[in-house]
Amino acid sequence: MPSRTETERESASNSSNNREQESQWEFNDNIQSNDNGATNNNNTKHKKRKGNSRSRTAHPSMFTNRDTEILIIGTGPFGLSTALCLARQGYTNITCLERSTEIPATKASPNGRDMPHHLFSTKEYIGELDLATRLSYEAKQLWKFDPVFKRSYHPVGFMYAACDVAKLKRDVNPYLQYNADAVLLDTPEKIKRIVPIFEGDLKDWCAYFLHKDEGWVDVLESLRSAYLECVNLGVKFQLGEKGEVVQINTDSATGKVISVVSKSGDVYTADKYALCAGPGIAKLIKFQLQFKPRLFIDSLIRISAEEAERFRGHTVVDNVDRGVFYAPVEENDHYELKASSELYNFPSEEEYLKNPEAIDTEAKNKIRLFLRDAFPSFADRPFVHFKLSYVYESADRNVMLCYHPQFSNLVVAPSDSIMESFMLMPVIGSYIAKVINHGVESLSKEERELWKWRSII
Ligand SMILES: Cc1cc2nc3c(=O)[nH]c(=O)nc-3n(C[C@H](O)[C@H](O)[C@H](O)COP(=O)(O)OP(=O)(O)OC[C@H]3O[C@@H](n4cnc5c(N)ncnc54)[C@H](O)[C@@H]3O)c2cc1C
Repeated sequence: MPSRTETERESASNSSNNREQESQWEFNDNIQSNDNGATNNNNTKHKKRKGNSRSRTAHPSMFTNRDTEILIIGTGPFGLSTALCLARQGYTNITCLERSTEIPATKASPNGRDMPHHLFSTKEYIGELDLATRLSYEAKQLWKFDPVFKRSYHPVGFMYAACDVAKLKRDVNPYLQYNADAVLLDTPEKIKRIVPIFEGDLKDWCAYFLHKDEGWVDVLESLRSAYLECVNLGVKFQLGEKGEVVQINTDSATGKVISVVSKSGDVYTADKYALCAGPGIAKLIKFQLQFKPRLFIDSLIRISAEEAERFRGHTVVDNVDRGVFYAPVEENDHYELKASSELYNFPSEEEYLKNPEAIDTEAKNKIRLFLRDAFPSFADRPFVHFKLSYVYESADRNVMLCYHPQFSNLVVAPSDSIMESFMLMPVIGSYIAKVINHGVESLSKEERELWKWRSII
């Protein structure tokens, strides 16, 4: 096992210190809540605190009243997770604004028909953790055990595949240090032994079977479940035109956000604001991350109930050279199988718009090639849905989570920067909530460094 560097040791110790301190503060805060008669049910009007009468070993969190008004913009996985975490901590004055007319939001990039499920591929924890791995591990525990999320978690196993063994080993190599049990399957026959649903010859396919504990999570169900729990805990929601933020009013003299305005003209004020609008944040503040575009292909084909049956509980197989398929979704009297892939040598969005037919054809051919390899009987069926979408992730593939450098009451948490961040949903809210309440100082040194403000504007 590799020995830990000084930085890793420091960050591990920082983070465990932080965790211990956080729970200590939560304990104090809970007593505070009881003193104030606050309950998790926000129908009970929260009494305004007159002052802070707590112990002399004061931490900044002590100055965050449970009735602090917190406005969360955006109810994707990051916004909902934040609202849920704050509500569970007993915060009684949380409002979420969402431009979509329903939650899960239909306009959010990954939701709805285009993205019924998400891959879930955490690295197994064996003790030596970088930040991404630790977060994945924490998230996985919550997917497994948190009553809000556990129904959406499907640990059916995860296989990372390719059509070139050398490339596969190279790609999977960083994984292996966390997953000593990963098994190399270097022939199609070995893959089929573990995933017997394939009917095609899987020409040149090879794979690593990574872990039985991994698989997929149901995006819509998990968002819905978090939303319902938030409603139970008294979080308020404004949707549609009342929830679509079109303007953020700031005061440069005080360095604060003073209100936000919705499309309907409603003005909302709060003590603290959290911008969790995914890619939508660039419309609201001067913000530009250094982006790396990726071009995704999503397709749906119609299959029968009998055909769908054989996919039940199947291991997720993600072939980077071909594509990935998801558990079929029931649609009235039939099922739809989703097959997705990615075009790696894609043109810019501008070039695409000049000649969309050629790129669409290339994308369709790629999906058909994938189906021919894996499920030839589906390969020539018409697509009931086909879509190409550009997705942008930050050049360094890190989440951003910090206070805005100019506005001391605005937390900025854009996550669409990484492809893997949906799976962080159960845990990310606790970090955002921590920053809202205790500032970035409450994060570990490593978290602060990786999640810092890095807009190029
Ligand atoms: C094609 C695709 C595939 C992906 N695959 C995976 C995967 O396999 N595994 C994984 O873990 N992650 C995956 N991701 C990434 C993941 O889905 C995103 O990182 C995640 O959804 C981002 O969460 P978010 O809450 O920051 O933003 P979003 O999900 O974009 O949510 C933002 C919310 O803010 C709302 N909003 C925006 N502007 C405003 C406004 N002005 N006023 C009010 N509300 C507003 C939106 O309607 C939306 O509800 C994928 C993403 C895409 C697009």
